[in-house]
Amino acid sequence: MLNQPLRFLPASGEPQVDHTPPEARVSRRRLRACHECDWLVALPPLYPGQQADCPRCGHTLVTRHHRPAQRSMALAMAAMVALLLAISFPFISFSVGGLGNRIELTQTATTLIGFHQPLVAIAVIMTIAVLPGIYLLGVMWLQLGLLQGQPLPASRTIARSLAHLNPWMMADVFIIGALVSLIKVANLAQIELGLSFWAFCAFALLLLYTTQSIDSDWMWFSLAGEPQAPENARTGTTAASQGLAGCPTCGLVNRLGSGGRGECRRCGERLHARLPHSMQRTWALLAAAAVMYVPANVYPIMTTTSLGQSAPSTIIGGVVELIQMGSWPVATVIFVASVIVPVGKLVALSWLCLVASRSSELNAVHRTRLYRLTEFIGRWSMVDVFVVAILVALIRAGSLMSVTPGPAALAFGAVVVLTMLAAMTFDSRLIWDTPLPRDPDATQGTPG
Ligand SMILES: [Zn+2]
Ligand SMILES: [Zn+2]
Repeated sequence: MLNQPLRFLPASGEPQVDHTPPEARVSRRRLRACHECDWLVALPPLYPGQQADCPRCGHTLVTRHHRPAQRSMALAMAAMVALLLAISFPFISFSVGGLGNRIELTQTATTLIGFHQPLVAIAVIMTIAVLPGIYLLGVMWLQLGLLQGQPLPASRTIARSLAHLNPWMMADVFIIGALVSLIKVANLAQIELGLSFWAFCAFALLLLYTTQSIDSDWMWFSLAGEPQAPENARTGTTAASQGLAGCPTCGLVNRLGSGGRGECRRCGERLHARLPHSMQRTWALLAAAAVMYVPANVYPIMTTTSLGQSAPSTIIGGVVELIQMGSWPVATVIFVASVIVPVGKLVALSWLCLVASRSSELNAVHRTRLYRLTEFIGRWSMVDVFVVAILVALIRAGSLMSVTPGPAALAFGAVVVLTMLAAMTFDSRLIWDTPLPRDPDATQGTPG
């Protein structure tokens, strides 16, 4: 043991020498399969501040940060403090004609339960506070272990879960919802922003920075090292054509078993050459979303009672009302978030499903970009649901003025969730899967 060379020990001042013969080094490369187009590439050595992009579709494979553990830890702790402040002080208060109401952040969800909208209430509290809270605790637990040089128990399970939580945290969308609500009622009543409002703004910003600070490539390397790449893996072609698959969570390239399935050797994530029944699932979710979009627009999303008179308003009705009030910017925000984005997503994903099998390298880049856009903008449709949650909780002045939620709130929330799930089940690698011209399969269906 003592006579062995020190080559596998970490460099402590001494230069680290790689004694492996060059022919063996081929299998020691850090291989990655692009998550969006399945191209197999070897990662170059990365220094802090650098990132590696896929040469075929441009998707960012790895981003390396300066001091990743310290950075994520500091941001997660600051975000957690801001979240605790945001839930312990008054959020917004309003007063009209001597009557007033002051709400806390959590009341935006709990008030909805009183109006028999428990599902919307759960969606609100989960996306703005519970899931971000769990996420931040997970990040702190992980980074604490990494800073000590000894990963804490359950680190792998937590690291795997963090990636899945990411799209469902909507603190930033909630801020836009709060601003829209404030502008809607600014003419009717006096509004005061509480300490909690500013704390929540800080929280949303810090949460965004925390999610961006996670260097999952570095994190998985620190947690579990880098197992050797599968033998005979060739770069410059797709992983699936060699019976390989890149792990969507930790990035490691694994050899798949029979039936194109497997499990990641490093993080335990289930692997598939392509997501099973991706097209069928996406179509089913899109159909369900399209069906829900009808009641979301036909029924009122909320009913405003002012001086004993009730006025229900639909999503479109709300936009028209805002235009009549002269608030063009807010009307635009609501119109884009509630009409353009969901309809655009339905159309774009349906079109991608239709053309995926007929894509070529020439248009695949644009189609992948369109897919990335639909995936990115989906969550912003939640603005209108948050506006309802805030107004229902805030505007409580009896018969003088009050707001109740309508059935469209649940239907519209369902549209947002269903289209998000549809974007997740769509496997963008299918866009790139057209057989190459030299492949005999490609010429089978075409005459000549
Ligand atoms: Zn790619
Ligand atoms: Zn993995």
